[in-house]
Amino acid sequence: MRRLLVAGNWKMNKTNREAVSFVSELVDKVKMFKRCEIAVCPPFTALSEVVEITNGSNIEVGAQNVYPADSGAFTGEVSPLMLKDIGVDYVIIGHSERRKYFKETDEFVNQKVHSVVEKGLKVILCIGETLEERQANKTFDVVKRELVGGLKGITASQLENIVIAYEPIWAIGTGITATPEQAEEVISFIRSEITKLYDNEVAQNFRILYGGSIKPDNFEAIVAEEDIDGGLVGGASLKVDSFARLVEIAEERQA
Ligand code: PEP
Repeated sequence: MRRLLVAGNWKMNKTNREAVSFVSELVDKVKMFKRCEIAVCPPFTALSEVVEITNGSNIEVGAQNVYPADSGAFTGEVSPLMLKDIGVDYVIIGHSERRKYFKETDEFVNQKVHSVVEKGLKVILCIGETLEERQANKTFDVVKRELVGGLKGITASQLENIVIAYEPIWAIGTGITATPEQAEEVISFIRSEITKLYDNEVAQNFRILYGGSIKPDNFEAIVAEEDIDGGLVGGASLKVDSFARLVEIAEERQA
């Protein structure tokens, strides 16, 4: 069985002090959950300390963005080398907020994916359609374009360090969750596209998360779906109790 992953995307939230207090509490609250995988993705400013506090625990740490070069004249950017150096495990790439506000293209997203896996870090690659695209019956086209574009040139062995998060944009931060059936429909489609790009064995081992207004009261039905391997969680990852509850739900499902 694929190992479920619950990853918290804090976005631009929590000062360093708040992050330290949050993870110090979280470490204790989730220490008994060993079957599923747990990750938190704080802002850059808190990464070092969060890595230190979670060291030796069952919590991994992710960054929310990266620039695809080791170093150089890229003012304001952070490289995969820098993230690896401080002990980061994951990098979120292609989040819809970055695609929208920072105009990130599939090509740029793909460069980032390569730069991160080449450093031996793991990727959470986000894909998903807008409400207009869904209403125009373009969901599968958009998801396929972002999937194929984001994974261009990625080998089957590199894919082992990549997780997809299917995040319908209309469900992010809106309180509107995709129904488990809607999420499963697209996620099983993504798995079938992975079969076409690689093979069935690779696709069966490949993890695909759902993201979009996940909460403790809807997560159980989401992870009950056959192809959904966990969640990328925004709002509900900012409170220790709700995030720990999501981890507990994943842990029960993993049994
Ligand atoms: C996200 O930003 O990845 C996300 C899923 O946010 P939320 O859970 O708040 O909808």
